[in-house]
Amino acid sequence: MRLSRYFLPVLKETPADAQIASHRLMLRAGMIKQQAAGIYSWLPLGYKVLMNIARIVHEEQQRAGHIPLLMPTLQSADLWRESGRYDDYGEEMLRITDRHGRDMLYGPTNEEMVTDIFRSHVGSYKDLPLTLYHIQWKFRDEIRPRFGVMRGREFYMKDGYTFDLTREDALHAYNRHLVSYLRTYERMGLQAIPMRADGGPIGGDYTHEFLVLAETGESEVFYDSEITDLKFGDREIDYDNVEECQAVLEEFTSRYARTDETHDEAVFNEVPEERRRVARGIEVGQIFYFGTKYSESMGASVQDKDGNKVPVEMGSHGIGVSRLVGALIEANHDENGIIWPEGVTPFHCGIVNLKQGDAEADAACEDLYKALTAAGLEPLYDDRNERAGGKFATMDLIGLPWRITVGPRGLKNGVVELTSRRTGESEELAPEIAVSRIKEIYGV
Ligand code: ATP
Ligand code: MG
Repeated sequence: MRLSRYFLPVLKETPADAQIASHRLMLRAGMIKQQAAGIYSWLPLGYKVLMNIARIVHEEQQRAGHIPLLMPTLQSADLWRESGRYDDYGEEMLRITDRHGRDMLYGPTNEEMVTDIFRSHVGSYKDLPLTLYHIQWKFRDEIRPRFGVMRGREFYMKDGYTFDLTREDALHAYNRHLVSYLRTYERMGLQAIPMRADGGPIGGDYTHEFLVLAETGESEVFYDSEITDLKFGDREIDYDNVEECQAVLEEFTSRYARTDETHDEAVFNEVPEERRRVARGIEVGQIFYFGTKYSESMGASVQDKDGNKVPVEMGSHGIGVSRLVGALIEANHDENGIIWPEGVTPFHCGIVNLKQGDAEADAACEDLYKALTAAGLEPLYDDRNERAGGKFATMDLIGLPWRITVGPRGLKNGVVELTSRRTGESEELAPEIAVSRIKEIYGV
């Protein structure tokens, strides 16, 4: 993409009403525009990151054997009357009446709808196990939407639903989700720690939340510092292997790590004092096993091997896709702007032309642009007629992890400059070496 043709409405001033870094930086970098309280347009740069996160979530879900589908945002109130949650859900539910006077709602989650799909089409244990998921907009009429996309009213979420014959199978599905979530967050360059949590309005007492440690997080968390040393890494895992998934769950949940809802001071005090940590975290996902809560009230059952009808065992598993954009920035920024991890960056690298209009500099930038594009990478070429200082400031603000700087002086010696946004370190290299370096970084 050539910046002169792109739509990147960066702001010079720091927006006054944005309280935390990620909100400020998303507004300044032209990623979002607020349209109403807690409701945002995703401008091109923000939309790219959102889609990159969604792509990683899709890939990891499907790697674990989960099946994508798409359910609508608007739902019929009657479904929610069946489960009893139409009244229970309270004021967070946005209720709508259509022209025929029918009660509708903008879905805050999809347990009822997916249970309805299941009961319409599945009747036998032979069709199990089954995990259906989608990534779809949700609406919750939060009393205090704040911190930009971190606590919006309309937000983008991955929600997956597991259907199994037995409790044992359902717990394997739960473990499988825990494993796949560890992989998912790590691919984005994030450490998200599974912590024992509370069921809330979804229900169930078998649940973990995934938290990213950050001072601006809304949850208070208590943990054994050893847990931050754990890495999932690039280990291969067979998602159908019950013991393997169970072992990962045990490895990642055996140390003390809880949110304030489940915190137990007496148990916490058994952790050696020097390892006890009280901190804040951002909830970026949650997994639940809740058994037959919805299948019983909504009549979703299957025939078991003996021909008996039994209610299906269920769980639901969410990832806050749009919240993750904010969480990633909270965990990756400095005073100059965002620092994207390579896994989610909106463009793979920036190209800064120090002297637009200089025949040699222009030609060298074009060559770099073509070489990177031909390798399947997406560079952002700042080809505007601007001062170098302004170009650098924009690149630092929008946070591309790598920048190639091209100027007449360097070109005389046959070099361009490759700079890491994270370390600030620069190297002078021949242009083609810079290209192969970038290709190597992204593994193409
Ligand atoms: P919270 O406790 O933060 O209100 P929740 O526990 O009610 O969230 P879940 O039902 O577990 O949310 O939804 C799954 C994921 O969706 C959460 O882990 C979070 O990352 C994200 N999420 C929930 N509410 C919002 C919101 N208002 N804005 C953005 N993301 C949200
Ligand atoms: Mg939650």
